[in-house]
Amino acid sequence: ETDKAYLLNSIRDIEDFPKPGIIFKDITTLLGDEKAFNFLLDHLSTRYENQEIDYIAGIESRGFIFGAALAARLRKRFVPIRKPGKLPYTTISEKYSLEYGVDEVAIHIDAFSSLGTHKPKVLLIDDLIATGGTATAAVKLINKAGAHCIEACFIINLTFLQGDLDIKKTTPVYSVLEV
Ligand code: IMP
Repeated sequence: ETDKAYLLNSIRDIEDFPKPGIIFKDITTLLGDEKAFNFLLDHLSTRYENQEIDYIAGIESRGFIFGAALAARLRKRFVPIRKPGKLPYTTISEKYSLEYGVDEVAIHIDAFSSLGTHKPKVLLIDDLIATGGTATAAVKLINKAGAHCIEACFIINLTFLQGDLDIKKTTPVYSVLEV
């Protein structure tokens, strides 16, 4: 727990970013602290090393950093989930609503290429869950792409927004830090 307190302290709060009234959790200071970054990767490796996982999927863009680092440690495949129009090959996508308007996440149609008979097992990673819109759409997308999302994992959960409630109806959720 002292390590978790250290990890939490390595994340910087930025007031009024990207808009007035929002306190943005800045994880660049975590990445810039090798003790914090290494503790985080040790913690996630311990949690996932003995679980059956075929792929780790990360959500653009900070989910790429943590997802790819963990995939390398666990010797797993990494799959990027991106904003529309970024992936070069054929994609499938999932729309979700924001406070004002809609957004979308996309994945390559062959991202979870066949592993013989069993359905690919995917661990989803993002840095932070706020309203949960992004991650809920990402879980749906993974399932649409023919895989099974075994868990959605976040470094930080802004629990007062209860963004994990929808995902939890179908998929386990794990957050390293709850604030
Ligand atoms: P949600 O869809 O409302 O849950 O927002 C989550 C997405 O927005 C994630 O991809 C986060 O990276 C990003 N996000 C929202 N708030 C913050 C923040 O305070 N720090 C870093 N990322 C954030």
